[in-house]
Amino acid sequence: MSVQVAAPAVELKELSGPMDKAAAAGPPCAEPGAACPLPAEREAAAAAASCGAERPPLSGGCPGLSAAAAAGAKVPQASAMKRSDPHHPQHRHRDGGDGGSGTAAEALVSPDGTVTEAPRTVKKIQFADQKQEFNKRPTKIGRRSLSRSISQSSTDSYSSAASYTDSSDDETSPRDKQQKNSKGSSDFCVKNIKQAEFGRREIEIAEQEMPALMALRKRAQGEKPLAGAKIVGCTHITAQTAVLMETLGALGAQCRWAACNIYSTLNEVAAALAESGFPVFAWKGESEDDFWWCIDRCVNVEGWQPNMILDDGGDLTHWIYKKYPNMFKKIKGIVEESVTGVHRLYQLSKAGKLCVPAMNVNDSVTKQKFDNLYCCRESILDGLKRTTDMMFGGKQVVVCGYGEVGKGCCAALKAMGSIVYVTEIDPICALQACMDGFRLVKLNEVIRQVDIVITCTGNKNVVTREHLDRMKNSCIVCNMGHSNTEIDVASLRTPELTWERVRSQVDHVIWPDGKRIVLLAEGRLLNLSCSTVPTFVLSITATTQALALIELYNAPEGRYKQDVYLLPKKMDEYVASLHLPTFDAHLTELTDEQAKYLGLNKNGPFKPNYYRY
Ligand code: NAD
Repeated sequence: MSVQVAAPAVELKELSGPMDKAAAAGPPCAEPGAACPLPAEREAAAAAASCGAERPPLSGGCPGLSAAAAAGAKVPQASAMKRSDPHHPQHRHRDGGDGGSGTAAEALVSPDGTVTEAPRTVKKIQFADQKQEFNKRPTKIGRRSLSRSISQSSTDSYSSAASYTDSSDDETSPRDKQQKNSKGSSDFCVKNIKQAEFGRREIEIAEQEMPALMALRKRAQGEKPLAGAKIVGCTHITAQTAVLMETLGALGAQCRWAACNIYSTLNEVAAALAESGFPVFAWKGESEDDFWWCIDRCVNVEGWQPNMILDDGGDLTHWIYKKYPNMFKKIKGIVEESVTGVHRLYQLSKAGKLCVPAMNVNDSVTKQKFDNLYCCRESILDGLKRTTDMMFGGKQVVVCGYGEVGKGCCAALKAMGSIVYVTEIDPICALQACMDGFRLVKLNEVIRQVDIVITCTGNKNVVTREHLDRMKNSCIVCNMGHSNTEIDVASLRTPELTWERVRSQVDHVIWPDGKRIVLLAEGRLLNLSCSTVPTFVLSITATTQALALIELYNAPEGRYKQDVYLLPKKMDEYVASLHLPTFDAHLTELTDEQAKYLGLNKNGPFKPNYYRY
């Protein structure tokens, strides 16, 4: 599979001025110029750089957005590259359903960035239980029985800070409530619309740490690069995604949204979004049935059909594939954020079943190397601390998987004085773990002695019942991967084991001899279930998502084929440049001589596509 380079989806206009002149005067890009910053961001980024106004963060303009002063300005080219799936087989489904995974692909990268890939075996995608009929709504009790968690999490006093206003008194399912926002709309389903004001404050706090999205909004002003876009989204519903959603709204899109995780919704934020007119269907502690019902409510609506998908994990995409395949006739593209969802898209593509273009945001450098790594580095301790109050110093921890997420977790725990072991299947990541000073072990070798087990593989059944049987008393078990497939939690639901809910998202599972393990978030991803995540890092991902949506939505028919694409590197560089001013970072500018010596455009891209950061 070769790297594809496309022209810009939309006319990119930019301010004329010293920076642009410099850009125009530079040597031609190795890769045709991608999207570029809006004028104000260019100024802001340039101001942050010590080289001052002479240095543009990047050349070009931001797709779909132009400035009033842009008339007659140069129009650089945008590019998008397509590449092979870089991942090992990942887990298949949030419920642990194994649709089978492809065999590992051999990706061959030539010096010019061309990526070829040996054929891989593709097996069929499986879906969640599709038999549920939402018209025959389960009773409250029946609904609860679909997921043990709902009955407890909705009644527990709330100790995690993932939501601040959960009412322990309110046991009524949102699906049984008649709620209206202040404008009289009832096109939403959230826990409690009265929490909206509190949620609005959360969103305002997040806005402070999301400079690039706020800049996009500001720069868009009269322009609406997403005018006419009908985006259906399925992401974690947090203050940060609310800022993204409201940015998409400000750029002209209509949005309908569901949560991609049954635990991670911030109820007050969902309420604030519903209050400001976003049809949001999500609450913390949904059952599995609720989860699919919410997705269905976003998609299956009279007089409204989505033309863009923003997904995190692939569940929404696959729901549409399964239930409403005809919708793809109107859908212009899919933007997918997660390792898991991207893996599913590549599988669809390989099977020839992908019927619209898709953007793989996960593998954008500005997502993978920031969200996966830094977000987890900062939030793993938070999630563990809030749920268990534990001290980390001297504790023995095993981290399964030394990819980006694993690296972040290991770094944080090491810094706290924990003794960290790593398990890996890939010799390269294994060697990295060794060189970073971690003991590489098989899980069996340390399972009896460790205090904490953390999975970060994106795989399934990494921690089996056998491992769980052998853990010592009070061992904490949790998952940082996207889905609840990594720990075989189902194997713990047997009559001889007693489950005791000690806090929201914290279960003691007790063996007949009295040994207990501490299971967090029932094996779902810990940080988004039990703690908050750093807004700034999510700002980087959200900006990449917004740009990907703009790019796909504005692309003329035929520019993107029915395949999976990466955003061009220049767009990654642009996203990064938008965030530099926060740090008063001073970026060095290449001299003409240096640029020539390296064969680079002074304004980027600065690295070839095959460069690994
Ligand atoms: P990655 O592919 O970089 O790393 C996963 C690693 O696990 C790989 O190195 C792989 O070799 C290893 N692995 C696979 N099976 C294994 C096994 N059986 N035992 C030991 N190691 C094994 O992926 P990543 O970016 O680190 O993401 C990992 C998971 O975390 C994904 O599911 C992703 O969606 C999720 N994720 C979570 C967050 C979060 O905030 N919690 C953020 C980003 C990504």
